[in-house]
Amino acid sequence: MQRAVVLGGSFAGLMAARVLSDFADDVVVVEPDRLDVEPTGPGAPHRQQLHALLAMGHLQLERFFPGVVKEMTEGGALVGSGSAVEFYVDGLCRPSLDVEMLGASRPFIESAIRRRTQGLANVRFIAGRGQGLVMQGDRVRGVRYVPAGQEAATTLTSDLVVDAMGRSSRLSTWLEEHGWPAPPLDRMRVDLGYATAVFRRGEELDGTVIAHSAPGPDSGYQPTLCEPGALAAVEDNRWTVVLAGYAGHRPTRDPYEFLRRMRRGVDPLRKVADSCSLLSDVDTFHFVESRRRRFSATSRFPGGLVAVGDSVASVNPIYGQGLTLATLQASSLASYLHSGTSAHAHVPARDYFRRADVFVNAAWKLSTTADLAQPHVTGPYPRGYPLLRWAGDAITRASVRSPEINAAYMDVVHMRQHPRVLTSAHILLKTARINLSR
Ligand SMILES: Cc1cc2nc3c(=O)[nH]c(=O)nc-3n(C[C@H](O)[C@H](O)[C@H](O)COP(=O)(O)OP(=O)(O)OC[C@H]3O[C@@H](n4cnc5c(N)ncnc54)[C@H](O)[C@@H]3O)c2cc1C
Repeated sequence: MQRAVVLGGSFAGLMAARVLSDFADDVVVVEPDRLDVEPTGPGAPHRQQLHALLAMGHLQLERFFPGVVKEMTEGGALVGSGSAVEFYVDGLCRPSLDVEMLGASRPFIESAIRRRTQGLANVRFIAGRGQGLVMQGDRVRGVRYVPAGQEAATTLTSDLVVDAMGRSSRLSTWLEEHGWPAPPLDRMRVDLGYATAVFRRGEELDGTVIAHSAPGPDSGYQPTLCEPGALAAVEDNRWTVVLAGYAGHRPTRDPYEFLRRMRRGVDPLRKVADSCSLLSDVDTFHFVESRRRRFSATSRFPGGLVAVGDSVASVNPIYGQGLTLATLQASSLASYLHSGTSAHAHVPARDYFRRADVFVNAAWKLSTTADLAQPHVTGPYPRGYPLLRWAGDAITRASVRSPEINAAYMDVVHMRQHPRVLTSAHILLKTARINLSR
């Protein structure tokens, strides 16, 4: 390709730009926020919340940016494995076996991959806001965007356009403006509240890098019975702590309430509340609904156009899938471009969407099935939901007692395996045996 344009220079846009740098002479990233110093712009206010990068995301980051993890640890980030990663369900800690996770804030991770992307000779950044598509027959031939500080839109031609504009992407409207159907939009209202605060980190937790706590089947998945939250040891000797709650139980910006809730949580949260000084305000975020745009289901779609990141799917963040999903979409884009099917730019990139759907659908199914356990989440229910729920509960219970089930469960939680591995006859029989002997 001569030129590829990526709209949106946040996490998914950077990953896509990195992949495209192997295939296009000129890769242009158009982003309205000033992200050159520290990525904290208004385009993605959720950046300030604690972001966990799952083990698969960690692996993919290192694949596309070799040495980036070492670079981050030299800058103060931590890498946790074994007992440094604590995963609690219903207050019980289960071993995290061979999971490796990064302890760093989202702006820190994003800065690192932004620096690496900026260092690629054929990638350049333009400060500006995408405003629409330029069409030529049955394909996209470029974008219209408004450069920062100007009022009039300008045009940039390209062989491929990537929508990385996040969950508020206006791509569906732009397609409709040109007479193309918008991809069907799936929604599930979850009404989740998030609150993050930063604490000074000392020696209070022996070696812990990540601790995560969630309600499970024994508390009926009720946050009111088991406080959901997580903490991560991050750069500059700090703890980032997040608490979550649904509907009427959403956390507020009140620091005293935040500390009270931490003290109701698992051991690491209690210890940090009792022994560390609070360094920041409590930053809240209201996540109203999970969304998925089903690009594969459109009857007609133009060539020369793909979408990545939250613009495709933005799921309940409590499962920590978003960044990892973006790395896997980047991987799908790379394999699509390698396959040669992309050579005909007038042909819609269905092969890319089909590859990426494997991950998107897995993340959607896992998160929405779990969300349906909340009484205020009223559907839509997937086919076979009662069976899925029953199996999910049984496997979650068995994973505390069996290292083998735990390893399989963690592989799925960390997106290293497709959830279908948990429905193999071997895993289900073993699960039944363990739970019956309980
Ligand atoms: C509260 C919360 C907590 C989360 N926690 C986790 C977690 O622990 N782990 C995890 O993996 N994921 C987590 N996520 C999900 C994660 O934040 C997203 O999946 C991730 O930000 C997606 O990246 P993105 O680049 O697709 O979109 P975004 O990060 O939203 O970025 C979109 C970018 O597009 C730009 N843009 C918008 N409009 C235009 C335009 N017209 N033209 C050009 N650019 C435009 C914006 O300025 C922005 O920079 C969390 C999300 C939330 C809301």
